[in-house]
Amino acid sequence: MGIALSGPDRFGPLADRPPTVATLCSHSSLQIFHGARTEGFRSVGICRGPPPRFYEAFPLGRPDRFLPVQEYREIAGLADELNRENAVLVPHGSFVEYLGPEKFQALPVPVFGNRAVIGWESDREKERVWLESAGVRMPKRFAAPEDVEGPVIVKYYGAKGGKGFFLAKNRDALTGFRPTGPHVIQEYVLGTRYYVHFFYSPISQDGYRVGHGSLELLGMDRRDEANIDELYKLGAQEELLRAGIRPTFVVTGNVPVVLRESLLPQVFDVGARIVSRSIELFGGMVGPFCVEGIMTEELDFKVFEISTRIVAGTNLFVGGSAYSDLLRPQLSMGRRIALELRTARETGRLAEVIS
Ligand code: ATP
Repeated sequence: MGIALSGPDRFGPLADRPPTVATLCSHSSLQIFHGARTEGFRSVGICRGPPPRFYEAFPLGRPDRFLPVQEYREIAGLADELNRENAVLVPHGSFVEYLGPEKFQALPVPVFGNRAVIGWESDREKERVWLESAGVRMPKRFAAPEDVEGPVIVKYYGAKGGKGFFLAKNRDALTGFRPTGPHVIQEYVLGTRYYVHFFYSPISQDGYRVGHGSLELLGMDRRDEANIDELYKLGAQEELLRAGIRPTFVVTGNVPVVLRESLLPQVFDVGARIVSRSIELFGGMVGPFCVEGIMTEELDFKVFEISTRIVAGTNLFVGGSAYSDLLRPQLSMGRRIALELRTARETGRLAEVIS
């Protein structure tokens, strides 16, 4: 059964009065606040400095209250105030990154989902163990440049937004490669990228069953990445490198995509494997996660990364997507989170969806 990481009394007040949905004002926060409002919850936005002005432009995505801090590291100091608000923190990529995974994990405030997942996702080695032992196909890894076959992408750990990644067409192109830090040399998978937005509910009783709950597909996007997406216009990679222009993978936006319908069973299988293995390894992943992969011309989906929380690509679907519309009208990921909190509270199962 569920994750039940907490002592029985820890979420006592949460059960007595409705939770307040709280998150950091960034990334996918408009959608999270909008989802909370739609499901009848109060919301709190933690911000650095004065409340960001752009929220005034989006009244339905504005939190009910702002909690400003001078620096992100001061967020831990907000714990008492957040607990007085009966807050449940919704993690998103920027929230976890700005605070630091360890600090986020240690926050003495209830978090939506199983916070144990952070340790598995923020460590690329552990993430690979999880995915490979789940039977998910991933890009090959080469221990040394001499072993390389075909094109590769070299990823330095902690290279934010893929800055510092580089591509090599073959083994020869790696001649003289001197790594400047911990890195992996990974097969460069040729194909089409898909970022698949899943939601796993451990308390849902119907749908696509996995474990004791069910797996939902809410949307899909492809990331716009600068400068790699437009680099081809300038000519061949080699020439560009000689001119000192290196490819980078900085996400600047997202575009909606759908997958050939006949490929849906494959991505559902991947999602289900990841969830099932997470239950065995650390008590289960709960809520939103994103499988980031490449569909090859052989129609093989190879996963290069997962994000174990709401991804910014879901911002495309505040009013629903081609997939979520088949679950419930106007179901954004932010609203799905709030709905899970509501259902869990109404059925006395909050401890299974927060930690
Ligand atoms: P994130 O912001 O998702 O944490 P990151 O810095 O951890 O990004 P990745 O997500 O691993 O980096 O990769 C960044 C981008 O590089 C991907 O979106 C994709 O365009 C490309 N990429 C990564 N791995 C591969 C691969 N094995 N083959 C082809 N392209 C890849």
